[in-house]
This record gives sequence, structure tokens and C-alpha cells, in this order.
Amino acid sequence: MDYIKLRKNNLCVENISALSLAKKYKTPFYCYSLSQLKSNFYNFSSAFKGTKPLVCFSVKSNSNLSLLKELKKMGSGADVVSAGELLKALRAGINPNKIVFSGVGKTTEEIELAIKKRVLLINMESENEAILINKVSGKRSKITSVGIRLNPDVTGKTNKKISTGGKEDKFGLSQNDFIILCKKISKMKNLKLEGLSVHIGSQITSTKPFKKVLTIINKVISKTKINFKFIDLGGGMGISYSNKEKKLNLSQYGKFVKKFIEDKKAKIIFEPGRFIAANTSILVSKIIYIKKSNNKNYIILDAGMNDLMRPALYNAHHKIIPLKKSNKSIIGNIEFVGPICESSDKFLSQKNFSKVREGDYVAITNVGAYGMSLTSNYNTRPIVAEILVNGSSHKLIKKRQSLENLINN
Ligand SMILES: *Cc1c(COP(=O)(O)O)cnc(C)c1O
Repeated sequence: MDYIKLRKNNLCVENISALSLAKKYKTPFYCYSLSQLKSNFYNFSSAFKGTKPLVCFSVKSNSNLSLLKELKKMGSGADVVSAGELLKALRAGINPNKIVFSGVGKTTEEIELAIKKRVLLINMESENEAILINKVSGKRSKITSVGIRLNPDVTGKTNKKISTGGKEDKFGLSQNDFIILCKKISKMKNLKLEGLSVHIGSQITSTKPFKKVLTIINKVISKTKINFKFIDLGGGMGISYSNKEKKLNLSQYGKFVKKFIEDKKAKIIFEPGRFIAANTSILVSKIIYIKKSNNKNYIILDAGMNDLMRPALYNAHHKIIPLKKSNKSIIGNIEFVGPICESSDKFLSQKNFSKVREGDYVAITNVGAYGMSLTSNYNTRPIVAEILVNGSSHKLIKKRQSLENLINN
């Protein structure tokens, strides 16, 4: 079920017309559907119900506190990559024994915080990190549960900038280094090696790379002869941003994982971000100008790359739809751009679009993951508001940053 869609030519988020919100709140703003978030979380869980995984939502994909609280209610844990994300997950009420701490560059302070808060697992990415965690744990007379991130040298055949599992990528340890570190950790008194983790990239729409990774994990486990308590398979599950894209067969992945876990006692952990959050939100924006030049119709929006970075950063494709669809169309080279002083401040090019005028509104779709979390104040523009729709009601879940607050330093 899709909760954000056109109904009689009006874009609706659940039972609310997006246009009514656009008239109420200053654009641009992010608008989320709670039912979509729930549906995604339960769909994810049900694809893997045979393995009863711990689902740790990847907070870097979306760190809005209200959304984290909703996810907590659904039983989600959190995958965090910084002190800030850890504190936010805790503030949302997520139990520390459902929190895993990942990342290639954790600082001493971050490690101290993770130990103090007793997170479930710190996923380490190097020997020196292990040495540091052992030392910090020793000072506090604690034994810390850790995992090691394996770099399986499998990539998701996705955008190079969001691939993390290739041997040239900075993440994790090669199979050999992994096995060596396992041995060394057995001599570090304040570490308890409980986990093996992988995360090969993002927006992966084929089950093949995931399957390959499972085979490699089996190989590595047989070499280390360790019964890992947790096997953390990371996130990376893709969604369809355009109708052309292939849809990930999650239930097939579920079957692979079920078979993989049959002969093991380990608990499976997943860290999905995009799959849970991406299609829960639109970015509502107003058309400031329509400018004709160079055989192009530039549709200049009040949203810019600072509000949604993905197209500029990854060449990501986000469909744009009018809040009110017209029966007429504009034909020609249409380019949706923002107001920022950068030529990469461009969202989408296409050959036709519903007839729109200056002052009309559009929605950039599927922006719930890596949308708000990648915003910036570039061009001294305030961070925009976030609104959450639930059925026929809605609420502001993050206020638009005030200009006053922005110009203070
Ligand atoms: C970014 C990240 C995730 C989430 O990735 P998605 O593609 O959004 O599912 C999970 N685990 C780790 C370690 C990450 O860095």
C-alpha cells in the first residue's frame, strides 16, 4: 500500500491533501506518512520473520526524534555512527541493548560514551580501534562486547559513491585481517568478541550480492571457528525511485538468510535505513520562477541542494510531481532547479510535465532517507521543517530553523 499518492489529481499524504499543508506551512518542508513508515517496518520484519532478526534502524538515514520514537514503538533498535546519533537513539527511548555502534573513525570520546551507555555491540573496523576500545574498557574495569566488520570484497553494483564493500573501500577488514584480529582479540582482556558485521553498500536491488556475502561469511566463520553471538548483515536494501528500477526481492533474501542461519546459534541483526525511510516522505516546494532560455524551461524551486543533496551528490533520481495535476502539459526540455549558486543545484530533467505556473507547488518524492539528514545551511539558508501525517491528522515534528538562530554566528 502506498500512502503518498495522487487522488483525483490532488497529491495526498494519507488522508491529507499536500496542498492544504503547503498553504499552512512555509515551503520547502518535508512531509512524512506515519502509516508508510509502519508498513515499511512491518514488511521488512515479515520478510525475515523466519529468522527473528533484531532490526536496528540506520539513524544516519533519518534522525528525526519523533520518527525514531515511532520506530522504537514498533520494536526497532538503532544503528548509530556518532555520539550524536547514539544520544538521539537513547533520547528516543531505544534500549541500549538494541543499539549497535558502527563507523570507521570512532573517537575516544565516542567509545567512552558507547561503553558508558552499554550499547549492545561496537562494530570495530581496525586493529587499532580494538586496542583503543580494550584500553578504554580496562580503565573503566569493563568488558565490552564488540564485533568486527568484515570487508567481503563484494559490491552491490550500485552507485560507486554509496558502495562500501569493495576491497578498495575504507570499510572493514579483509578476510585475512579479520581472522588475524580475531586471534589478537582473544588476548585482549577487556573485549568480548561477539559479532561479525558486514555492510556492502546502499540502494542494492539485487539479492545476488547479499547471497554472495553469506557464502563468504560462512567461509570466514569456518576459518575462525568462532560461534559468533551476533551476525550483523548491515543494511543496503534498495527501493524503486523510478518505475524503471528493479524491485529488491526481499522475501528471497529472507529465504537465503533463513538457510544461512539454520546451522548457527547466532542472532541476525539488520541495519536498514533507506528501505524503511525513503518512500515515507516528500519535499514540498514552491515554484518561484519559470524561466525560458536555451531551449529549456527552467522551473526554479524554493528548495535547493542544501535541502535535498542527493541529486547533486549522487546523481540520484527523484521523481517530481505537482501537488495539483493539470489536464494540460508543458512539453519540451524541462529542468527543475533550486535557487543555490551552484550548477549542480539541479533536481531533474524531463520532457514533459503537468502544466504549472509560478506560485504552484510540487513534491520531490522518496526523500525520507538521506534527505533531511544531509541538509545544510549552505547559502545561509535555514534548515526546513518536518511534518508528520497520521491518517487525517498532522503535526510539526521539527520546526523550521529561524533566521535569527542562523545569523548569530
Ligand atoms: C549507512 C549504513 C547503513 C544503512 O544503509 P541503507 O542503505 O540506508 O540501508 C547500515 N549500516 C551501516 C554500517 C551503514 O554505514
